[in-house]
Amino acid sequence: MSNNQPQHDQWNDCPAGELSQLANRLNARKQRVRRTQLLGKASAFMLLVACGVFVVGFALDPGGPRYGNITCSECKSHFVAYHANETNAEQMEETLATSMATHLQKCERCRTLFGKTYPGVLSAELTQQSSIPMFAVAGFTPCY
Ligand SMILES: [Zn+2]
Repeated sequence: MSNNQPQHDQWNDCPAGELSQLANRLNARKQRVRRTQLLGKASAFMLLVACGVFVVGFALDPGGPRYGNITCSECKSHFVAYHANETNAEQMEETLATSMATHLQKCERCRTLFGKTYPGVLSAELTQQSSIPMFAVAGFTPCY
C-alpha cells in the first residue's frame, strides 16, 4: 500500500446548489452538442439539395438555354462558321444560320461573346435588340 493515494475516509458535504449547477452544466453541454449535430445534418441536407438542383438543372438543360433551337455551347461551337457566313467567306447551312441568328438575337451572353470575338460582324439589328427584360438580374437566365 502506498501512502500517496488520496484518502477517501473524510467526506464533506457539497456546498448547497453545487450538484444542481453541475447537472445544469452537463445538460447545457448536451444541448450544445445536439445543436451542433443538428446544424451539421441541416448543412449536409442543404448541400445535398443544392447539388440535386444543380444536377437536375444541368440534366434538363445541358449547355445553357435554348434559343433558336440551339444551346449556348452549340452556338459557340458554330461561331467560326457563322462568322464566315456573315462575312460571305463561306456559306453555312441556312437552317443553322437562322438558328444562330435567332440565338444571338435572344441570348445576350452569346451575343456579347460573339461581338467581342468578331467585332462589327453582327448587324445593328442583332446588336441592339435584346429579349432580356430591363429588370433582368445579372446571371439570371429566363426559362422558355
Ligand atoms: Zn447563348
